[in-house]
Amino acid sequence: MDRITLFVDLLLPLHLKGYYTYRVPYEWNDDIKVGQRVAVQFGDKKIYTALVRHIHQMPPQGYTVKYILQIIDNEPIVNEIQFTFWEWIANYYLCYPGNVMAVALPSAFRLASESKVLIHPDYEGDFTNLTPNEFRIVEILSKQNVLTLDEVTSITGLKNIFSLIKTMIEKKLILLEEELIERYKEKKETYIKLAETYTENETAFKELFNSLEKKSFKQMQVLLRFIQLTTHKPVKEILKNELTKIEDISISSIQTLVKNGVFEVFEKTESRLLSYESQNEVSSITLSEKQQTAFEQIQEQFTKNQTVLLRGVTSSGKTEIYIKLIDQCISQGKQVLFLLPEIALTSQIINRLRKYFGDKVGVYHSRYNDHERFEIWNKVLEAGDLSTSKYQIILSARSGIFLPFHNLGLIIVDEEHDSSYKQYDPAPRYSARDAAIFLAHLHNAQTLLGSATPSLESYYNAVSGKYGLVELLNRYGDVQMPEIWVADLKEETRKKTMKSHFSSMLMNHIEEALANKEQVILFQNRRGFSLRLECDGCSWIPQCKHCDVSLIYHKGINVLRCHYCGYTTKIPEKCPACQSTVIKMQGFGTEKIEEELAIFFPQARITRMDMDTTKAKNAYQKIISDFEKHEIDILVGTQMVTKGLDFENVSVVGVLNADNMINFPDFRSYERSFQLMTQVSGRAGRKNKQGKVIIQSYNPWYQVIRDVIDYNYLSMYQSQITERKAFHYPPFYRLIKISLRHKDEKELNKIASKYAEELRKIFGERILGPEFPMVARVRTFYIKEILIKLEKTVNIPKLKIQLSELTDAFLQAKPHKQTRIVFDVDPM
Ligand code: ADP
Ligand code: ZN
Ligand code: ZN
Repeated sequence: MDRITLFVDLLLPLHLKGYYTYRVPYEWNDDIKVGQRVAVQFGDKKIYTALVRHIHQMPPQGYTVKYILQIIDNEPIVNEIQFTFWEWIANYYLCYPGNVMAVALPSAFRLASESKVLIHPDYEGDFTNLTPNEFRIVEILSKQNVLTLDEVTSITGLKNIFSLIKTMIEKKLILLEEELIERYKEKKETYIKLAETYTENETAFKELFNSLEKKSFKQMQVLLRFIQLTTHKPVKEILKNELTKIEDISISSIQTLVKNGVFEVFEKTESRLLSYESQNEVSSITLSEKQQTAFEQIQEQFTKNQTVLLRGVTSSGKTEIYIKLIDQCISQGKQVLFLLPEIALTSQIINRLRKYFGDKVGVYHSRYNDHERFEIWNKVLEAGDLSTSKYQIILSARSGIFLPFHNLGLIIVDEEHDSSYKQYDPAPRYSARDAAIFLAHLHNAQTLLGSATPSLESYYNAVSGKYGLVELLNRYGDVQMPEIWVADLKEETRKKTMKSHFSSMLMNHIEEALANKEQVILFQNRRGFSLRLECDGCSWIPQCKHCDVSLIYHKGINVLRCHYCGYTTKIPEKCPACQSTVIKMQGFGTEKIEEELAIFFPQARITRMDMDTTKAKNAYQKIISDFEKHEIDILVGTQMVTKGLDFENVSVVGVLNADNMINFPDFRSYERSFQLMTQVSGRAGRKNKQGKVIIQSYNPWYQVIRDVIDYNYLSMYQSQITERKAFHYPPFYRLIKISLRHKDEKELNKIASKYAEELRKIFGERILGPEFPMVARVRTFYIKEILIKLEKTVNIPKLKIQLSELTDAFLQAKPHKQTRIVFDVDPM
């Protein structure tokens, strides 16, 4: 038979344009498949994992092709729909498929080219010139041959071992061995069971028993223990080490029993994922009349539209409707993707879905480690055979859109307005909500967007007929919406009734709530408004060395810290500008609020929830569960407290500073303020009692505050949509934000102007800028931004191609090589 010469086009997880062609060794012709991983050498001796995108017989022109080194998978791990999806993301968001692959595949799938060190063959064992660390490494290597750099790190305790390794190589003590290892190793455990002869046949078992009784007391003991340990197990097998760890058990007796065929030893792959049984049937949910109507309307709308928007006020029972829809979809044997803005913030929803769907629900989570993400990926892959034990429902934050679905029927995007759906950095800078709609399209599936406060874009799409629209405007059980009050800070300041940052109105309500043993949530917009230091003499403010921002004061650790690059420094004793020793606090963050509250309410149990207090893996869950158990009276927090939490006993919610949200310089700030204030208000008052919300502002007559008070989404929508149209913003125009980065400010100015000039040749008036953004320097790079506004009537895909071609050519020119250009399509 003729031997065909096969080539593969490979996708590498790197910032590279296009695919790279490699040759397949003849002996693998029958094994190679699209979607498998292969190992290849790329660039300087580096070894990478790549995905097979195409297989063909066309030798590449102009270079000698390398062979692939290894086929890693027996079966494809990425399917055709995923490739198409990744390519769409790359085109739409102006990056490369390799960028998408790098975020889409859990890193356990990307083999690490982990360096290993060996003892140098010329080393003769002379210890005299070695440092203590060198001595230890050489000593260990003489016993165990190889060490990975990770192991060297843990042996020496050094943070940066590269200089040590480098000198050791230079001294010819060690050698590096590039070795490809797969980072993910399945966790295998050894089990023991009784041989079939004895489980099937009682007489045989009795005989065994009698003979052991006479022959060997020790073996008898092992057998008895085994029976004891397995009596209550449905499957009569145990972990080998469960048996061996028992003190009076002799390991050699176990071995003898195995040798004599009494026990069988076998290995099983342990799943790291916990398993859950479902406790309830979906049919036990009875929808209220209004919910039932909404449910039917959604189904009706789906017959005409692939995407439907459900606007349902907080506590209207959207989740119950989702559960019904999910149940319908999986009973047709299809998969469901349930997207949430931030998975860590929604353990309540996870629990609710698990209650109904048990093991069919998989949670895909960026805080999970790689092994877990890898296992979920595989389970979704396996769900292909429709066996019911596999994940048919995936709950996930934005990265769930990258899983290997092959038969999606429904995507739910809960809280679709949330800006966490947007990935800012690194590329692809995508919106998971928008990408999900395209993904559903590829699967011929349906998308349900849900929110109490839909984004302007989605609501516009719904009213203009692009999406179906269903509205559910009553809370479940017709519980009243909370009553919203505005505390007029100007007035209270004049009357001197303010206590620090708290109005008397808010104070009184907190007091009342605490007296009634009810709980309080206080919301303060995050970060930018936290504590800074300022010199009393000359107004000097400590700045980050590398970024164009002031440093934030952190009381807990008593340092100044940059929120962009993490630079930290001590509090200066005196002002470096005027030598004054009076340096004061400015602004107020969640930490300050927590501290002041403790003074005003010494009896109350107060906890803060923000980025700083929730870093540890389960810190967030702990706060939530403490709050649920009413071990916390007042919860102070950032945006985190506005997200879909559902508490019974919260009677007061305070918004501490509405003005800094509303005045934030961004075309979406009005919409965002409305969403945040409405969402946080939704946390107040549930079943039994109407809740109260206090919004503190210096401008109580702001229209947006009035709209929040009146629960008037449509008024907010109307006023904003008019402005968006007048000022050429989405949804009427598409935006592309271009950032140029360079270490030298003058160079950047020159290059940015020149680049903008070239852009204007294609885009004309649609180009705005270049301008310095609010934070114009990050990590020693200066930044300038250009904004492109595209009306929807132009051929946007074509203009995007022109944009990236122009940019590639521009960056090729020598004077521009040090510049980085980053695109953000549909910036948020
Ligand atoms: P949303 O997601 O719209 O804010 P939820 O689905 O969280 O609303 O519902 C709010 C509360 O009302 C929850 O405690 C939920 O259990 C309850 N609830 C809603 N619908 C029903 C129903 N049909 N039967 C029983 N309880 C319901
Ligand atoms: Zn910095
Ligand atoms: Zn000063």
